[in-house]
Amino acid sequence: MRCTGKRKPLLHESSSQSSVSACPGLFYHTPALDGTLLRVRIPGGLLNSLQSQVLADLATDYGDGHLYVTNRANLQIRAVETRLPPDRLQELQRFGLAARDPDLDPLRNIMTSPTAGIDPTERYDTRFLVSILDEYIQSRPDWAGLPPKFSVCFDGGGTVSVADRPNDISLVAIESSAGVLFRLRLGGEAGQLWDTGLLLQPEHCILMVIAISELYLEYIQHGGWRQDLALGRRVKVRRPRLRHLITAWGREQFLERAIEGSTVPVIRTIPTPLPCASTPSAHLGAHPQRQPEFSYLGIVLPLGQLSSGQMRELAALSETYGSGTLRLTPWQNLLIGDLPTEQVAQVRTEIAQMGLDCSPENYYGALMACPGRLGCAAAATDTPSHAVALAQYLQPRLSPPQPVSIHFSGCEKSCAQSLSSDITLLGTPLAGEEGSEGYDIYIQGHSNRETRFGHLLHEAIPAHQVPQVVEEILRNNPFDGQDNR
Ligand code: SF4
Repeated sequence: MRCTGKRKPLLHESSSQSSVSACPGLFYHTPALDGTLLRVRIPGGLLNSLQSQVLADLATDYGDGHLYVTNRANLQIRAVETRLPPDRLQELQRFGLAARDPDLDPLRNIMTSPTAGIDPTERYDTRFLVSILDEYIQSRPDWAGLPPKFSVCFDGGGTVSVADRPNDISLVAIESSAGVLFRLRLGGEAGQLWDTGLLLQPEHCILMVIAISELYLEYIQHGGWRQDLALGRRVKVRRPRLRHLITAWGREQFLERAIEGSTVPVIRTIPTPLPCASTPSAHLGAHPQRQPEFSYLGIVLPLGQLSSGQMRELAALSETYGSGTLRLTPWQNLLIGDLPTEQVAQVRTEIAQMGLDCSPENYYGALMACPGRLGCAAAATDTPSHAVALAQYLQPRLSPPQPVSIHFSGCEKSCAQSLSSDITLLGTPLAGEEGSEGYDIYIQGHSNRETRFGHLLHEAIPAHQVPQVVEEILRNNPFDGQDNR
């Protein structure tokens, strides 16, 4: 999320945080056009019902009464007007919704599949790895020197996969002759995850994450540099990411030092391509769990939003029928798990009464938009209202020919979706009438990745014409039945 000004301390300011980018958080003040933006990091996207209630109260008392799921399965509260008082921050810490040490809070950026532990096809339940790493991070005050964007992902190898999500460290379970092992990929940039070829035993994953984090921290503390080929000398990197370190040292040297630091045995294999990404709606609707006679239900959150009231009702529903856990997804939706299969129809009915839907055919299931002009100074367009207009136009007219991901972005930065979407609408001001808004429209079809968004199909389409133009694109179905995500 782009900030519109300098970060101001909210409760606590530290030397480490003052030197890193102003990624939104809880303990400092990140202004946006609609007020202060708070981000609550939810390791693994897992919330128990008490945590859900606490967050719903926070959004009611301090925000605009809504919670916004991010594409890292975290939660944001927007339009906050006053600073959170210390007792409210302490409450969040008590409920495990904030790090005990505010300096470490941004590092609780740990992703896993929202179906971890319940997916019948997964190879390993990664929830344990998430909680161990979260606990370990909180025991390492010196790790506050790592940047807030530093991110780790554990993927259990199931159907609802997050293996393709951009993370600095990505560990993905695979089946091998030696049993379940984790494949290590590194990099952090969308589409550029580097498969190291290393396989690790599950119990060694945390030690490897620690070793890599230590190397990264050391690199940052030594100033973060890279070799500039044009200048023929080392230059300082302004915001050093893990990929800069790997480039600076060279892949082989980096791996040697990571293996040495971790002290764990590894198996070296040849790198393999990333597994096929999950379709964005694979988790929506009812699905059987690995636990016989139980199911999970994926719920569509339009543009990742739910009201405080809906959050409370979903938490209560999960308590009544399930295990009390809500699972946030990186597709900005939500799951309730551990539902007795014979009660799923009743739960669906109650969810519909809250004004929410579970259908994988709902366009909102894979529709993303950044905050747009009303929330961000860089936006050329009011992306959320245009996304809503599109969904409302398409839903009664056209069943999606296949799961289609659609992304509205107010500028090239593409905050809401770091991966490419089937259709990307990039906001652009239109010439002529002042304030008129439009979109360049890109599609990801059969091998046409000419730009990071795909192939530019239409330029400067006025916002009010977008629904008809997208309908025509969908009716022509240019995606060739392929999953290009
Ligand atoms: S993508 Fe959207 S939220 Fe991000 S900087 Fe651009 S306009 Fe702002």
